[in-house]
Amino acid sequence: MSLDNYVNTFGAYCKARYGQRIKKLTIDAQFTCPNRDGTLGVGGCTFCNVASFSAQQGLEQPISIQLAEGKLRAHARPTDKTHSPRSKVASDKYIAYFQAYTSTYDEFSQLKIKYDQAVADKDIVGLHIGTRPDCVSNEVIDLLVQYQRQGLDVWLELGLQTSNVLTLKRINRGHHLNEYRKTVNAARSRGIKVCTHLILGLPGETTVDYFNSLQTVLGIGVDGIKLHPLHIVEGSTMAKQWRYKSMPLLTLEEYACAAATLIRHTPQHVIYHRVTAYAKKPILLAPDWCAYRWQGLVAIVDELREYGGQGSALAGFGKMA
Ligand code: SF4
Repeated sequence: MSLDNYVNTFGAYCKARYGQRIKKLTIDAQFTCPNRDGTLGVGGCTFCNVASFSAQQGLEQPISIQLAEGKLRAHARPTDKTHSPRSKVASDKYIAYFQAYTSTYDEFSQLKIKYDQAVADKDIVGLHIGTRPDCVSNEVIDLLVQYQRQGLDVWLELGLQTSNVLTLKRINRGHHLNEYRKTVNAARSRGIKVCTHLILGLPGETTVDYFNSLQTVLGIGVDGIKLHPLHIVEGSTMAKQWRYKSMPLLTLEEYACAAATLIRHTPQHVIYHRVTAYAKKPILLAPDWCAYRWQGLVAIVDELREYGGQGSALAGFGKMA
């Protein structure tokens, strides 16, 4: 079972570029989020689990220590998620991944100090910055360009989740599609690669919405995509809604079918950084299948094997190399 046979994965991209798969080391740089601190809102996006960020990270440790500990963990457990649960890939290069909260939301001088601390590690070959589309200044883009000129592989990860403006409002994102478009154009015009996060299964959405979101993102231009199933996590606003109304969530089969359909409609040059997600109980409330790291992946590969891989639904499709 290899996702790489059907999808242009980030793992395959790293292998082609560095001769090996590259582990991302997650950093908690103690950022916050304007959708939580009152600048834009206080409740945050309704699916967001601020408690899990704190539980996973929450360590006010120097970034150098976080990276050192991340490397130890990476060597202590299997890393090759796209192949099999038992495969283990040794890596001596890493990506510094600023994932928690809004990782461009701070004074510029503070951002630079934190990013500099990460890239100072000799084993770091890439810098991934996760953030909101409305929190990326031109100054930040200039800084990312500098890192890229130093030879680092720089990616800006933007949470969009959906292009449906009604859903954006319903899930309390606090930004509009226009801000996403503007930031993507600003970053990509300077050569910074953009990876966009999309969630399948948001309340009120159907496969038509997922498809529209993909088409919108591709139409604006994108270098990478992360797909997630909506899953309910403890501490989120949706957890309360789910307990109260027991909102419908995608089954494993529904998600695999929807994700595979989007992948088939994605040009082959777009890199999939992730095609599903999992979360640990008891933080994860539902759906249960998201508690198993491999179930979503196996189901998606089965769909792709049966009906065709990335780009196969597009005109002019050619076999993946
Ligand atoms: S998902 Fe991101 S933007 Fe939304 S509340 Fe959480 S940290 Fe903030």
